[in-house]
Amino acid sequence: MDNTFDPRRLDIKAFAQAGAELQGQSPLSQWPRLLDEQMAGTQTQEHLVRWHLQGQLTPVTGGPSRIGMLLTAEVDLPMQCQRCLTPVVETVKAERAFVFVADETTAEAMDEESEEDVLVISRDFDALSLVEDELILALPLVPRHEVCPQDLPVGAADEAFEAASQRPNPFAALAALKKGQ
Ligand SMILES: [Zn+2]
Repeated sequence: MDNTFDPRRLDIKAFAQAGAELQGQSPLSQWPRLLDEQMAGTQTQEHLVRWHLQGQLTPVTGGPSRIGMLLTAEVDLPMQCQRCLTPVVETVKAERAFVFVADETTAEAMDEESEEDVLVISRDFDALSLVEDELILALPLVPRHEVCPQDLPVGAADEAFEAASQRPNPFAALAALKKGQ
């Protein structure tokens, strides 16, 4: 068994025939398109993109075996909460099965009736680019905290107002001073 599969130049057919798997993790800073989705100014180095690829060859009655791949990936991505506008770390997960076929025409014809995504087979397929695509597709449309960590700006302003109104009014204090004279 060949263990030297390269996820950046993957021989899809050989990968499926071997029933091989590949997995890895690398910092978010190495995934430029995902990095674009991150909230500006947040730390990236501790966030890892984790991915796993499983080659699958499924026998088909009366025809060539089906060449497939199962992709799973996950990343904790700092995004901007659309409610309180502070960073929220969203756990983004992707899981998708792919089938590989000989050419674009077959892929288009099959894609409509297939539950899996259909791609054209390649001997130097960039599977990590596919991982990045899938994670981007899985991003939340409206990132937000389940419970925001702090009051909304309006609430904060109200609190400041209340604190101010409990302080003695400087004019009243002045009036009291004059009265005493
Ligand atoms: Zn929030």
